[in-house]
Amino acid sequence: MKTDIEISQAATMAPITEIANKVGFSPDSIEQYGQYKAKIPFETIKAKDSEPSGKLILVTSINPTPAGEGKSTVSIGLADGLNRIGAKTSLALREPSLGPVMGVKGGATGGGYAQVVPMEDINLHFTGDMHAITTANNALSALIDNHMQQGNALQIDARRVIWKRVVDLNDRALRQIVVGLGGPMQGVPREDGFDITVASEIMAILCLADSIHDLKRRLGAIVIGYTYQKEPITVSDLQVEGALALLLKDALKPNLVQTLEGTPAFVHGGPFANIAHGCNSVMATKLALHASEFVVTEAGFGADLGAEKFLDIKVPVLGKAPDAIVIVATIRALKMHGGLPKNELAQEDIASLKEGYANLQRHIRNMQRYQIPVVVALNEFVTDTEAEFQTLVDLCQADQVEIRRCAVWAQGGAGGEELAQAIVEITAGNGTTNYQRLYQDDASIEEKTAAIVKKIYGGKQVTFSQKATKQIQSFKQYGWDELPICMAKTQYSFSDDPTKLGAPTDFDVTIREFVPKLGAGFLVALTGDVMTMPGLPKRPAALNMDVTDDGQAIGLF
Ligand code: ADP
Repeated sequence: MKTDIEISQAATMAPITEIANKVGFSPDSIEQYGQYKAKIPFETIKAKDSEPSGKLILVTSINPTPAGEGKSTVSIGLADGLNRIGAKTSLALREPSLGPVMGVKGGATGGGYAQVVPMEDINLHFTGDMHAITTANNALSALIDNHMQQGNALQIDARRVIWKRVVDLNDRALRQIVVGLGGPMQGVPREDGFDITVASEIMAILCLADSIHDLKRRLGAIVIGYTYQKEPITVSDLQVEGALALLLKDALKPNLVQTLEGTPAFVHGGPFANIAHGCNSVMATKLALHASEFVVTEAGFGADLGAEKFLDIKVPVLGKAPDAIVIVATIRALKMHGGLPKNELAQEDIASLKEGYANLQRHIRNMQRYQIPVVVALNEFVTDTEAEFQTLVDLCQADQVEIRRCAVWAQGGAGGEELAQAIVEITAGNGTTNYQRLYQDDASIEEKTAAIVKKIYGGKQVTFSQKATKQIQSFKQYGWDELPICMAKTQYSFSDDPTKLGAPTDFDVTIREFVPKLGAGFLVALTGDVMTMPGLPKRPAALNMDVTDDGQAIGLF
């Protein structure tokens, strides 16, 4: 089997104008970025607004393990499979962050014969959206520091600035820094720090805004810190939302690329699901829905993180719930959840598979709680045995949930037809589900957090640090308690302890701190020791990378 990059480099891509034509855009209604990428301008998006909405399929998974699950791969293969059986389908995916690309092996363009292309461009600088988001974020930091330097009319308390700088890399040395050193001409000294760009509130705003007007409103609502009297200060107080929106005007336009089989793919916005809200942009999802019969979209990491946030944060803004949810599982990862060590995953082991099924089972029940039909997609690996597959089918049947094999990594869309057929059948009908939210807006911050911890994670209770308890009190005073909660939690476990695999019970989750994100419209709850700026591993993927004299990428997976 060829590597992902060998497969993608050998592919013959269609000109992006041809792909655009499949979703009803003429060549002069798109903005081309070279031959194979385009952005969709606002007039084109507006013209599609009156078209009926297609069906939305949300792809999520069990808790990730180092054994790999393949959510992006299955999403891409499912979209290709749907097109193969005659259902007009496009993809709405996130764009990759350079942090994990340089760090741990793994981009975000799928794998095997289910990939979006041009994979090198998408995994590197793409159309510059990450750059624009980083620049807008850091422009705001510079404007805050300058305001304090030039007389500080707003009385910003340098000790209470919560707005951080960002860079789209894993760079642990920048987690905590001091700025403004060097005397009166060099600014006001204060503690600061860097987050990774995909954790930035600007990224969340870009993904949730539905127009330039809404983008500006959300940017203006960002809380950057507090005065000496502990009153919140917003971007509107600094009067710079217009400048920030200007820096983001092109980044807000959805990007169009294609799969190896020519399925249109809107790849736009890329917040992580462990430290941010984990779903691609509302603009791209809406556009895709108005342009196709089916849209396949993916939410990051396991269903406890990405899908919960999709359903409780994105759906109310999007105004549409998924028509079906696909939970991706692999026999290898389930065996790992059942306690089998990584180096033994290639052996048949029915007992650990049965044990590890508890992880999948909890995700199935969690998703069914939202009253949306669920299908399990088994992403097949060459090491899977027939007996293991049959065991998983029996377990799913006992839980009355549909399961389909998916061989898209090895076969492309042809290996996704069975799953595609199941999706078409399950979503036949008038297209409305009985979507039920997990909590209502007017529930208290404590109730909302407890709903996530108890009903989704399966925890016993949620506890709040002294700092978090104080924050809840002041957030109530500011009137921020009607906002949804965006959990920052390890992706590896239902609990806040990454080593607790399977379906742990009897655990507490501690909220150590909240970060108000008024522009995005949610409160981030930090649990455990989850970091908003990751570090690089001992052997970063960067060590395998190179470029040939004629500009071809080497070692990009
Ligand atoms: P996720 O979206 O869950 O993070 P990806 O779809 O990005 O996962 O896949 C991660 C890696 O696993 C990719 O390099 C991909 O090629 C590989 N992979 C996915 N599915 C399979 C499979 N069935 N067999 C072998 N490798 C796979």
